[in-house]
Amino acid sequence: MAEELLAEEEELEGESAQERERREAALAKIRKLGDPVLRTRALEVAEFDARLREDIDWMRGLMDGALGVGLAATQVGMLARMLVYRVERDSPTAALINPRIEWASVEAETVEEGCLSIPGIRVDVERPLHLRVAAADEYGAAVRIEASGMEARVLAHEVDHLDGILMLDRASKAQRREAIREWRDRQREA
Ligand SMILES: [Zn+2]
Repeated sequence: MAEELLAEEEELEGESAQERERREAALAKIRKLGDPVLRTRALEVAEFDARLREDIDWMRGLMDGALGVGLAATQVGMLARMLVYRVERDSPTAALINPRIEWASVEAETVEEGCLSIPGIRVDVERPLHLRVAAADEYGAAVRIEASGMEARVLAHEVDHLDGILMLDRASKAQRREAIREWRDRQREA
């Protein structure tokens, strides 16, 4: 299962009250479906300065707090082409600045995804099985990543965010309609 998140309302096994509070505080800072910033294309980062690294650290903290495996800057209201992600929940968090998908395999896979900006909703999304991404790290050094499976999926999902594209846009029409209906119902209940 590929999820950018664990749903907000989900009771997590073994989660303490303190952890839950941290998770909810992090989720509260993340922009949700309906916020126009999620539909805006982020701009290239030109300066690799201390400010950028502070923003990245802040994003890392939010992603950790929300128990996510990926977070794009647009999701926290910053229109800069940068993202943080990790391969597994316990692996270190990498930052990619100005990521560009250089190559994607024709071979694809359909897996259920979630999104920190659409908590509680899951849709099946087809993504390339393998990707090559060119980017810079937070110090401006060029990096090139060959990713497969879950890692490729997270990267594709986050790069989409930087272009204002959401997982719903890549779901079937029927699933998208159902997801939006469910989302509206949840908003009404909240
Ligand atoms: Zn997302």
